[in-house]
Amino acid sequence: MRFDLLTIFPEIFDSYLKESIIKRAVLDGKLKIVIHDIRKFSKDRHHKVDAPPYGGGPGMVMAPQPIYDCIKHVKKSNKGPVIYMSPAGKILTRPLTETIYRKWNKKGMILLCGRYEGIDQRVIDLMVDEEISIGKYVLTGGELPAMVVLDAVSRLIPGVLGDDESAKEESFSRQLKGKKEYPQYTRPESFKGEKVPEVLLSGHHANIKKWRLENLK
Ligand code: SAH
Repeated sequence: MRFDLLTIFPEIFDSYLKESIIKRAVLDGKLKIVIHDIRKFSKDRHHKVDAPPYGGGPGMVMAPQPIYDCIKHVKKSNKGPVIYMSPAGKILTRPLTETIYRKWNKKGMILLCGRYEGIDQRVIDLMVDEEISIGKYVLTGGELPAMVVLDAVSRLIPGVLGDDESAKEESFSRQLKGKKEYPQYTRPESFKGEKVPEVLLSGHHANIKKWRLENLK
């Protein structure tokens, strides 16, 4: 699945995308991530990307021209929807990650990260297909939200997790009836006097399954 990320701080993504599961998915060709620096599209002499808001008020607003041109450029190679990461968007949930994966895994997605007070409304009206929020709070930029979407959707791609079953039976999934996952334990059997529940050591699959379903959080 292809993700194009549009940002004025491209380096933010470096370390996260170069570790662990996401890194392996990229190397395996299951994920393609292309980062675009919006600033490079600014026609301003000093490559400015923001200006004060019309009507007054604090802070700066991201100007439409660089974003518009950047999206135009990216649309040539990614035919998926343009998603603006925004506190005003639809809240990301497990079912929404599944819908996104089902609808867009072939074409990919374009994730637009805002900064400052946000972006000029006209670019949203002209170019954005959907707005997604990662929760009812405000962050300084859309980069973390974009990584959240990328990460949550990527783990649904077959082969990205070590075992595809991991992504099926987990918190908020249909398999767990939308509930949170049962408690997990690993070695040792006793830790500071706390024991692993007996049934998990029994090797009795039906009983283990029953215990787990009874112990969803
Ligand atoms: N003035 C805006 C907030 C701007 S925050 C308001 O009151 O709604 C700057 C940028 O961070 C936004 O453009 C958006 O891209 C990103 N952002 C902040 N909080 C977010 C959230 N909860 N979900 C998704 N993106 C968010």
